[in-house]
Amino acid sequence: MLGPMQAVQGVKEIAELVKKYNDVPLYEKIVALQGQVVEIATERLDLYTENQNLKQKLELRAKMHFRNPYWYEDGDEVPFCRKCYESSKQELRIHLSHPPQRTGRRVCINCSSAFNDDGIEVGIWSYSS
Ligand SMILES: [Zn+2]
Repeated sequence: MLGPMQAVQGVKEIAELVKKYNDVPLYEKIVALQGQVVEIATERLDLYTENQNLKQKLELRAKMHFRNPYWYEDGDEVPFCRKCYESSKQELRIHLSHPPQRTGRRVCINCSSAFNDDGIEVGIWSYSS
């Protein structure tokens, strides 16, 4: 597949060749074309990057499973904060404290929510509690 930078380079080389003929209208056309090719190449790179990010998100999402009452990643026994995960459209993955505290609670260092043994939110955790 033709890389966008190859096309940019190709048009640049043509512009340099055309310059030698002192044909101003032709040269101007080539320079304008050069700008358009650069614009398309930039746009294509942005789309490629965006596509890679979306693929990565989908792959991560496919590894996540809800095992009542928490979300887990395949092969990981530490649950994620349900509140952060669900409220961030499944983008924010914050591990809850593991193992649970002596009180049986698990807490999230991001939103400070505390969950009891049954995964029910039982308030906001603070250092003093
Ligand atoms: Zn949280």
